Amino acid sequence: MSRSSPTPRKGTAGVRLKIYNTLTGRKDEFQPRELGTVKMFVCGPTVYDWTHVGHARTYLAYDLMARYLLSHGYRLKFIVNITDLDDKVFDRAEAEGVDYRTLTDKYTHAFIEDLRSLHINSIGAFIRASDYLAEIEKQVQMLIEKGHAYRADSGDIYFDTSTFPRYGRLAHLTPAEIKLRRIDPDPHKRSQSDFILWRNWTQKGSPPSFPSRFGQGRPGWHIEDTAISIPNLGTEYDIHGGAVELIFPHHEAEIAQAESITGQTPFVKYWVHTGLLLIDGEKMSKSLGNVITLRDILHRCDPDTLRLYLLSKHYRKTFNFKMDDIPIFEEQAALIHGTVNRLKQRLNDPRRSGTAGSSSLNPQYNKLVDLFFHALNNDLNTPKAIDALISLLTKVDKDGEAAADPQLLIIILRMLSILGLE
Ligand SMILES: [Zn+2]
Repeated sequence: MSRSSPTPRKGTAGVRLKIYNTLTGRKDEFQPRELGTVKMFVCGPTVYDWTHVGHARTYLAYDLMARYLLSHGYRLKFIVNITDLDDKVFDRAEAEGVDYRTLTDKYTHAFIEDLRSLHINSIGAFIRASDYLAEIEKQVQMLIEKGHAYRADSGDIYFDTSTFPRYGRLAHLTPAEIKLRRIDPDPHKRSQSDFILWRNWTQKGSPPSFPSRFGQGRPGWHIEDTAISIPNLGTEYDIHGGAVELIFPHHEAEIAQAESITGQTPFVKYWVHTGLLLIDGEKMSKSLGNVITLRDILHRCDPDTLRLYLLSKHYRKTFNFKMDDIPIFEEQAALIHGTVNRLKQRLNDPRRSGTAGSSSLNPQYNKLVDLFFHALNNDLNTPKAIDALISLLTKVDKDGEAAADPQLLIIILRMLSILGLE
């Protein structure tokens, strides 16, 4: 790589990344709060079933983001929470006649294993809500003390959205629009837009419920996430991710809770959301019987093929998944690995003359390398980046011996490692 190359280099912690921020509604220059360190939280699954291809697409997008930041020398603290306290979990456990912990242990382990099988290995910690019940209770109590939460006649504790004027800012909803979104229906609430923090379970028979200073109950979903993120990442951090359908009310509620507790804003600097995934043009659902698990696909293709397929569409766009498309990406994976192996062999060939490997890369290669990084800097445009990589590899293959430059190999391997291709 030439010295004048605009391509960022490893170890500089400098990246000209622009990232689409749901909060500001535009692509923002990425600048972490703390020099050289990125703190990132992504909403994890509710663990009562197998990991499906929609999950895979979401966590792969954040794995790509994490790999990109790591390749630029950032230290990364990346957490995914595990929603193991949830009515869907408890209902499934009851239906199967098992303790909810048996169910959540099984699917938590499966989730982590499934992500690893797709080489999603940038996540530093998976943290279960059930380990944070004391913190949940503490945060609910703080919200009550600060006048942001109240106990309704039903005994349930709600966040009072009228005390948080910024409510709706992330989703870009007006107060009138928020009123139309019905959440946690309860005639005892002060306002229909108020969301649940703690569900009173003293009168209800079916277990489980958890003891607290508010009586036996179950935590709300939104408070589980701030109870995990604040102690682990602090009162303000860099990136919060999740699928687009989590913007409202889930992420909106997280902001309301965190900023009301800490008085600091913004709780999170960059809110990043991944698009929907459809199966053959339809929403994936149990009732349609079109759910594809990650395990199903990885029985039929290798992880690199699936990564190339899922990254072939920009992370914010809707992805229409079709099993029939997989062979295209099998070919792409074969082309990539074939070229890289041939380049490695040429470089290892003892008959090779020592002329290759000058201080600067052939400008034609350099142009394509720059295209790759420019595409990723532009809100992680993986389709364009992969196109640049394929063009580069096609040229390298055509040039044969003339392309046998050890520097070129190092750069190509770095590009592959950012994409997580092994
Ligand atoms: Zn969440």
